[in-house]
Amino acid sequence: MNADLRLCRAVMAVAVVLVVSGMAFTQARPLPGPDVPEVYQRLLPEIEKIPIFDHHAHPGFADDPDVDAMAAPPGSAALRERDTNPELVAAAKALFGFPYNDFSGDHAKWLVQKKAELKKQYPGTAYFDMILDKVNIEQGVANRAMMANYLDPKRFVWVFFVDSFLYPFNNAQVTHRNPDQEVYIPLQEKMLHRWMKQENVEHLPDDLSGYLSFITRTLADNQKNGGIAMKFEVAYFRPTTFSDPTEQQASAIYDKYRSGTSVPTWAEYLTFQDFIFRYLAKEGGRLHLPVHIHSAVGIGDYFNLSESNIMNLESVLRDPRYASTTWVMIHGGYPLEREAIWLAAMKNVYMDSSLMEIVMYPSAFKDTLKQWLETFPDKVTFGTDCFPYNEVLGAEESYWLGVQSAREALAAALAEMVSEGEITEANALELAHGFLHDNAVKLYGGKAH
Ligand SMILES: [Zn+2]
Repeated sequence: MNADLRLCRAVMAVAVVLVVSGMAFTQARPLPGPDVPEVYQRLLPEIEKIPIFDHHAHPGFADDPDVDAMAAPPGSAALRERDTNPELVAAAKALFGFPYNDFSGDHAKWLVQKKAELKKQYPGTAYFDMILDKVNIEQGVANRAMMANYLDPKRFVWVFFVDSFLYPFNNAQVTHRNPDQEVYIPLQEKMLHRWMKQENVEHLPDDLSGYLSFITRTLADNQKNGGIAMKFEVAYFRPTTFSDPTEQQASAIYDKYRSGTSVPTWAEYLTFQDFIFRYLAKEGGRLHLPVHIHSAVGIGDYFNLSESNIMNLESVLRDPRYASTTWVMIHGGYPLEREAIWLAAMKNVYMDSSLMEIVMYPSAFKDTLKQWLETFPDKVTFGTDCFPYNEVLGAEESYWLGVQSAREALAAALAEMVSEGEITEANALELAHGFLHDNAVKLYGGKAH
């Protein structure tokens, strides 16, 4: 086909789409019109009716150590993420009829007691099912160290952590790099031992091929136990630039340090980890286990954004060797989300919006979402990143805040797009269904369990 004919066909295809979608043949306008509030008011209640698939969250109670494979180090939290955020009062009012305007003194006790009563009234898995019903989440990811028996497997699908496979050696040097690592690395060691126990592996296997087969068995067993994807938080622990070592190089390092008596150099450890990371990515493709990666700035004062920002992953994501691996960029690369959306040009790369709708206020998240929806609308997925803040403010309140903020920002972004002549209101609702539910569910074959 020559270039002119190709262009002609492309123009006709666009024309067909526009006619079908009822769009007038006019150029989109650069400014929204005065109808934005009306369109917003029409869209929001429709958006609230959409049952959500929450693509990233850490549901559980505050005293449950399996909510995550790592713990939060002391450090600064962004303004809206602090437990002093007054919007959390609104969350407690909406979910529990909280009668006060702050959490001081007895007010906090009221909320703790109210939740304890509800847990009795809704025993076992019924409590969190009731919370999901209240926020209209049909099904959600539980990205946890292990699943909890109080989470209903029909409503919660497990995403398990794989970073611990990167830390089989003597971790003295990597642990003492900074105070954050002193919190993180011992928990990775603990996680690796839990996988070893699960697979009846008493000591590290004799050689690299034995170690790789232990990894594969763990992935397959976790999948059998309901795991739908694997998750890396590797950006917290080391730079996310991955070199491409040979198996021989990784094997030599494994042989040298397997016994744990000597400490690998930083460069040797990175080389070994680069190989394991790529092995896990390939296994994710072979086993149909999508790979979730924390891709945003992170908690803790020592998170190194320039070493671990999402664009460092570009060489891996655009590598045809991983074409059969599905990648989910958890937290959308924030604060580089405007560049990050272009990674979703790859058919196997998806974005997740979790954290962004909490760390940003809806007015700012609206602009992010609009740019995403104007670029690759079928590749963006929603997540709450809910997490139990403390024994008073739990995953419940953060579910509510994430869902409410995202719905409002979504309605606002779509209202502007409608008003500016980019899409119709019918298109807007299709995009909303895609973002809040359909795009993510498609990744898991149309059904996540
Ligand atoms: Zn998370």
